[in-house]
Order: sequence, then C-alpha cells, then structure tokens
Amino acid sequence: MTNSLNTWTRDRLAVLDRRDRRRELRTTSRHDGARVHTADAEFISFACNDYLALSRHPEVIAAGMEATLRHGTGSGASRLISGNNPEYENLERRLANFKGSEDAVVFGSGYLANLGILSALMGNRDLIVLDELAHSCLLNGAKLAGSKTLYFRHNDADHCNELLSAHRRAHRHVLVATEGVFSMDGDRAPLARLAELCEAHDAWLLCDDAHGLGVLGHGRGSVAEAGVAGRVPLQMGTLSKALGSYGGFVCASRPVCDFLRNRAQTFVYSTGLPPGVVAAAAKALEIIERDAALVTRPLTNALEFTHVLGIAPAASAIVPLLLGSSAAATAASARLAERGLFVPAIRPPTVPQGTARLRFAFSAAHTDADIAALATTVGELIQPTGETP
Ligand SMILES: *Cc1c(COP(=O)(O)O)cnc(C)c1O
Repeated sequence: MTNSLNTWTRDRLAVLDRRDRRRELRTTSRHDGARVHTADAEFISFACNDYLALSRHPEVIAAGMEATLRHGTGSGASRLISGNNPEYENLERRLANFKGSEDAVVFGSGYLANLGILSALMGNRDLIVLDELAHSCLLNGAKLAGSKTLYFRHNDADHCNELLSAHRRAHRHVLVATEGVFSMDGDRAPLARLAELCEAHDAWLLCDDAHGLGVLGHGRGSVAEAGVAGRVPLQMGTLSKALGSYGGFVCASRPVCDFLRNRAQTFVYSTGLPPGVVAAAAKALEIIERDAALVTRPLTNALEFTHVLGIAPAASAIVPLLLGSSAAATAASARLAERGLFVPAIRPPTVPQGTARLRFAFSAAHTDADIAALATTVGELIQPTGETP
C-alpha cells in the first residue's frame, strides 16, 4: 500500500541502510549463561548483561515458578490498585537492606524507573545536570521533567562543579545524574567527587547503577565500591541485568520512596510486575548476598581479557574496543561471529559519532577457555583504533 506513513518510514530505513545503522532483530535463545543459539549456529556470547548467569540459576527459576503457580502469571493492575502482589514486600525490603537505605521502590523496568523518578522529583523551575554519556532513559526523564538540562563532560567532576557554580542559584532544586558503570564504556563515575560537589551545592545525586550491581562493591554496586554509601540519596538500578529478572528500582529514604509511590507517573499508571519476576529477583539478590566468590567472576574474567590483549585494565564487566566507523564495527562483529563469538557492534546514535565499537560483556559463566579463545581471536582479527572512549 502506498501512503505517506509507509513511504516515509521506508525512506528513513533506506537512510539507515546507507549509513550502516540499520538494526535487525535476531531470534536468539540462551541455554546457559555463556552461550546463545540462533536458528543455524551456536556462539559463546559476550553480549549479555546477565553477569552472574542468575537467569539460569536453579533456585532463581524455582522461586519464579513457585510464585507463578501460587499467584498467577500477571499482577492484574497497577500496584496502587490491586497489583501489589505479596512478592513485592520481600524484594523491596531486601533491596533497601542490601543498599543500606531506608526504603526501596520497584518499578516496571529500569527505563520506567528513571522516567518516573526524574519527572516526579523535578519540574520547570529546576535544573538537571547529566554526564554527557548518560543513558537514554535519563535524557528522556529530564525531558519529561521539563527542567533545564545541562551536560558535563564525561566523568569530569570539575566541569560538573563549574556548571553547578554558574547555575545552581538560579534554580529551586538541582539533580545531578550519572551512571555508576557506563553501559557502553565500562568505566566508573567519580562518585566520591560528585557526592562531595552535590553536598556543597545542595544538589541531589542520582546514581544509575544498572551495570555495577552484582559486579562491584562485593555485589552491592558502584556506590559501595566508591565508599560513598549513605551519601548518594538516589540509588537507582535494574532487576534486568545481574539479577537475571526484569524490573527497575530506586533505593532512597522513606519520604522519597513514599513520594515516588504517590507521584511517579510510571509507577502509578503502569501495571505491577508479574509475581514470578519479582520473586526471581529477590532470590537472585539472596544469592548475591551469600555467594561472594560468584560475584568476583565477571570482573576477573574482564581483567584477564584486557591483560592478555594488553589494553587498559577493565574497570567493570564491560570492555569496549573502539573501531571508529559503523562499517568497521559491523564487519568486526561479523568476523568474530564466523569464529563462534557473539559480540555486538555498538554504533551511533547509541554512542557518539566516530566511536562505533565492539562491546564485550563478561559473565561469571565464562570459562577460562572461553576467555582465552576470545582474546586470541580478537588479537588475531581486530585492529582497534587504539583510542580510549
Ligand atoms: C539497561 C539500562 C537501563 C534500563 O534498565 P531496564 O531494566 O533494561 O529498562 C537504565 N540505565 C542504564 C545505564 C542501563 O544500562
């Protein structure tokens, strides 16, 4: 059918094709923590954020199944109506306890958590200051809030300080947001410096620790690793990565959490998570608390890879290798796939122009042989630009 909607979308897709930016879904199934299957091949995967392979853990699966059998597959309504299934209380208590906060609120996803938190706490008289590489959901949360938004250079606390010094006074409230571990770069935010600045300028610090939980700080995340527990009033995270489940959360004080339960639109007007998903996440958290050895493995694997390759030591479970153009990144990913290694090419607009890359995510499920195979093959086949992101 020819109409303007179809014509326009087809033209836009053709532009993406010409710029090597077209993305395609591929059906992939995961049968253990480190391997993925497509219709015709099996790969060792370095593309999953299931850092501890807890999505496949027998106790986590059993907890999810048991809750599903008892309470059904869906929660039936928003949590404020009748969707606050019995599994929530245990999970929120555990999260708060784990992060050393008074309370915690679970949202439908990490993305929804940031949209809800920023738009509930911040308004048009306020200022939001973001690291320039902050995740899409922080950018869109700031848009939804309608606040003035400024960006500081990546991990540059001095630049953040300059922005706060220049603009703090003209605004009612200020919120500074960063990722604890940057999702496409794997480096860590200077949380101690940022906490100090925020205290000095009466700004509220939000740390999105989607990739630090379960990996850094004995599993407690970037804030614990940086030694600033108690000094980051908004500790946001996701249940969808190291916890192997789905959903998002924030750990904060009781008044902040009670306010978000009343005012965060993505909490109030979206259905509660299925009971099985909530129960699985709580069980995963319990395992992280008790299994100290498991939690060290993703970073140990990442460090082994960077050591063998002779590049800067990994700071987290994520290691990028910059290749420059989208075409180079896509070609490198395809060459690794031919050798049975599943490594995604990350291209603009996810990362800045000219910094397309391979992104390696390391898991507790990778064996020493997996890491050795990867390092050897990458060393043989890939010529990175040598730049750091
Ligand atoms: C994945 C991710 C999110 C979103 O979490 P979901 O639970 O997948 O919606 C938010 N922030 C960062 C930094 C992430 O990497």
